[in-house]
Amino acid sequence: MATHTGTLKYEAVQNYINGRFQDEALEALEVHSPLDGTLLTTVPLSTEKTLDQAVQAAKNALPQWSAATVKERVQIFYTYRNLLLENLDRLSELICAENGKTFSEARAELEKSVELTEFACSMPQMVGEEVLEVSRGVECRIERRPVGVVASITPFNFPSMVPHWSIPNALVLGNTMIVKPSEKVPLSLVEAAKLLQKAGLPDGVFNIVNGDKTIVEAICDHPDIGAISFVGSTAVAKTVYRRGTSNLKRVLAMGGAKNHLIVLPDAHVAMTATNVIASVTGCAGQRCMAAAAMIAVGNTEEIIDRICEEARKMEPGKDIGAVISKAALQRIENYITQAEQQGAKIRVDGRGVKIPGRENGYYVGATVIDQVSPDMAIAREEVFGPVLAIMRSQSLKEAISIENANPYGNAAAVFTQNGGAAREVINQASAGMIGVNVGVPVPREPFSFGGWNESKFGALDITGKSSIEFWTQLKKVTTKWNAEAGINWMS
Ligand code: NAD
Repeated sequence: MATHTGTLKYEAVQNYINGRFQDEALEALEVHSPLDGTLLTTVPLSTEKTLDQAVQAAKNALPQWSAATVKERVQIFYTYRNLLLENLDRLSELICAENGKTFSEARAELEKSVELTEFACSMPQMVGEEVLEVSRGVECRIERRPVGVVASITPFNFPSMVPHWSIPNALVLGNTMIVKPSEKVPLSLVEAAKLLQKAGLPDGVFNIVNGDKTIVEAICDHPDIGAISFVGSTAVAKTVYRRGTSNLKRVLAMGGAKNHLIVLPDAHVAMTATNVIASVTGCAGQRCMAAAAMIAVGNTEEIIDRICEEARKMEPGKDIGAVISKAALQRIENYITQAEQQGAKIRVDGRGVKIPGRENGYYVGATVIDQVSPDMAIAREEVFGPVLAIMRSQSLKEAISIENANPYGNAAAVFTQNGGAAREVINQASAGMIGVNVGVPVPREPFSFGGWNESKFGALDITGKSSIEFWTQLKKVTTKWNAEAGINWMS
């Protein structure tokens, strides 16, 4: 059973299997709020046995759920979408508490979960079947069927949105599902389960198994799970992709990022500075789409000065939320210190932040580091904090080659008023999502989300129309109903 050292702010998290929260005698971890260290709850470290129960529940629910029409299944998600909206403020507070975001960031995350659900509700308009008379009286038809029992493994940085990248689409398309949330932020998904149940989702269609590496590995190995979507760091994405596919499953594994912004001298000064700093500091830099490295081409001093000015305006604890843990805080500060020791210039320093009354929270202020060289760790590695590393280049070509040399490839952006230069970056940047004068180029529905290179393993993207292919398989049916005895080719 869970042992903990104080009063829990929220009920101890339980696994959700077959429509019920289960009280199990499992080892548990404490979950503290990054905002101020408050003990929020405990989360069970489930075993393979619990996962197997969830898979059995999902298997039992599959025949009836997959036999319903897509028009019937979306009805539940219309209701669910409205329930999300009715509970927007309460759910946003929960995201703030468990993840450390500011309230407006948490609310924006919830609004994105609503948009993802709305996309799933439009599925009947998108999954119409194809049919053609291919020989005289012979018809070929493509039917879209669910994969079966599927799973999703999610990270800490978006406790609601990232699970919603997979849940509505996978379920509306007729699959049944097990989600393993990050053990750092297990609370938002508990509320999602309650609202899905309230919306009328049948028992067993959606299940939650909490835990750590043990459950992730068990998901990769379970013979009855057909597909896995994973979102997290590159190292874990690679192991999940390798292990899942070696067990002959479909896997789509999204990894980490180091997003580059290329700023040209003709960029609009104020617009560039505010966009760059919003991208660097949003969600305390803990976004896989955050701007992390900037390549300033030629004379961009005025823009860089303005970027520093904007960074200084950002108040930790008010404009910038907390980072997830003490370990994250130390990692980020170490990167800054190391860059300083290697000769980079700290123009705005976010280290050593203490917020009165929230001494047990984990805060890093906006940080701008200039004169970074491409070989420094701060230029190459994912820092995952509100830190911008600025490199200098003499030409756009050189800037593009610096971007290309980075192993990640989630997003890249260019700030310029020159359409030709922007097109050059669109063509040459080695990233899956490109922004032109946009610091966080997240494609909104129905466009799909997905990076390249070490930021994604597996074909297809995780959201939008691309996800329809991931969560379904095609059945090709050839029929002949006329009584004609004559045979022509392929009849
Ligand atoms: P993480 O890789 O530590 O954890 C992700 C999930 O994997 C969690 O559920 C966790 O319990 C599990 N896990 C952790 N270590 C494991 C191990 N050794 N073996 C098996 N499972 C393990 O990631 P995180 O710290 O929660 O999230 C931040 C990372 O996610 C960043 O790298 C960020 O860029 C990335 N991310 C990527 C995208 C994208 O779309 N590319 C989106 C969001 C976050």
